[in-house]
Amino acid sequence: MKTPVCVRFAPSPTGPLHLGGVRTALYNYLFAKKHGGQFMLRIEDTDQTRFVPGAEQYIMESLRWCGLQWDEGPEAEGSKGPYRQSERKPMYRQYADQLIQAGKAYYAFDTQEELEDVRERMKASGNNTWQYNSITRVNMKNSLTLPADEVQRRLDSGEAYVVRLLVPRNTDIKVNDLIRGVVVVKSEHIDDKVLFKSDGMPTYHLANVVDDHLMGITHVIRGEEWLPSAPLHVLLYESFGWTDTMPQFAHLPLILKPDGNGKLSKRDGDRLGFPVFPLEWKDPATGEISLGYREGGWYKEAVVNLVALLGWHPSDNQEVFSLDELIEAFSLEKVAKAGAKFDVEKAKWFNQYYLRQQTDHQLAESIKPQLGDLEITEELLIKTIALVRDRAVFPVDVAEDVLGLLQAPKAYEDQALASKWKADSAEKLQGLLNWMESNPDLQPENIGSSIKTWLTEQNYGIGSVMPLVRIALTGGLAGPDIFETIALLGLQSTKERISTLLQKVQK
Ligand code: GLU
Repeated sequence: MKTPVCVRFAPSPTGPLHLGGVRTALYNYLFAKKHGGQFMLRIEDTDQTRFVPGAEQYIMESLRWCGLQWDEGPEAEGSKGPYRQSERKPMYRQYADQLIQAGKAYYAFDTQEELEDVRERMKASGNNTWQYNSITRVNMKNSLTLPADEVQRRLDSGEAYVVRLLVPRNTDIKVNDLIRGVVVVKSEHIDDKVLFKSDGMPTYHLANVVDDHLMGITHVIRGEEWLPSAPLHVLLYESFGWTDTMPQFAHLPLILKPDGNGKLSKRDGDRLGFPVFPLEWKDPATGEISLGYREGGWYKEAVVNLVALLGWHPSDNQEVFSLDELIEAFSLEKVAKAGAKFDVEKAKWFNQYYLRQQTDHQLAESIKPQLGDLEITEELLIKTIALVRDRAVFPVDVAEDVLGLLQAPKAYEDQALASKWKADSAEKLQGLLNWMESNPDLQPENIGSSIKTWLTEQNYGIGSVMPLVRIALTGGLAGPDIFETIALLGLQSTKERISTLLQKVQK
């Protein structure tokens, strides 16, 4: 029988989740759901020095906002817990012991100062890359070089030690990566990594491999930054004798800056005005606030959709995917090896797409808090939204345009006036105003054709009058169809705003 798929997202709670982390979680989720498997959340908090308060809650809230609910993990207990490595602490020692007994790991007693000292001496002789490895360990203070009784004495007296992996010499270590193919690394390039410390804490590598084994993880899908650790992890599986159940590896490509030069960072987001975090994050140490997609008016469907396409492409050219459609279409074979450039305009395109899926009523609800004390009927609000929504990327754009239309302009754009105001402009606008006054029966619905007829009779070009009307109504030159705008505002407001403009310009 085939083992059921089981994957995990294993973040360290060291800060907010970056877009790359969201993508790792998403691909794990999609892969699990596609194969009817399990998606686990494991918190890798062995390194207490890097622990950041609030980060774990932030990660969980982000995943939930994106709709990526884990099957097992914190706040979703199952049979494989606990799910925080700090709570699994008592489990790791026996695995370190097991490796020592099997001759695959050893105790090392070298102090920090002694290690520093060796590094310094090696540097002085021109070797900047000294490592504790299969060659150098014979000159160090460990259970391979010290007599057995001395090792025991040191252990009994409670002397500080670490457990290091005994990396074999002259061995090729093969990592079979589902995205990159086979990667072979010579064991000489791997140092005798510390697995366990005498304070009882495992290092990341030991805890990660032991937990993946105990939780029955079948596929390790994670960021490319972990590729260099993969040979070590394979070696650990071999040392434990767990090769039969070793998970398959898939290392995801980097998410690159918009210009393709290097990894996407928070600074790129700040510089170009887009978030790199799903939710707003307040740094508990500095109080600094970082933008979040949710608070920035992005639809979660847009975020999931755009993140999915950063590094994965479907077999056809489909771009818009719901989460269910992504599950259906996703495969690791279609994940690219090369880094994926973050495209801000494309991201906005997705948001606009999902905004357009909202009904006028849904948009009305979402922008109400931004309308302040604007007093209007629901009917007028809906009509205004219908008129302005086409240009909007974010709900706030709709809110701004609604306010821009329904409130008389507080000022006029200088450039707009300078480019459109001519010597005869006042006369023409006044003429239009007089005509509207003397025709009280004008109907808003036909206002376009009525004004056009009047313009023709006067021999006025449409471009010499209507842009001025637009400035009078909205303060600038951009906006929805001018005749529809007049119809929406009604003839009374239109007249008032035109005469206000005339007064202001003539002053
Ligand atoms: N804790 C690691 C991280 O923060 C997880 C690496 C892995 O998925 O194996 O990314």
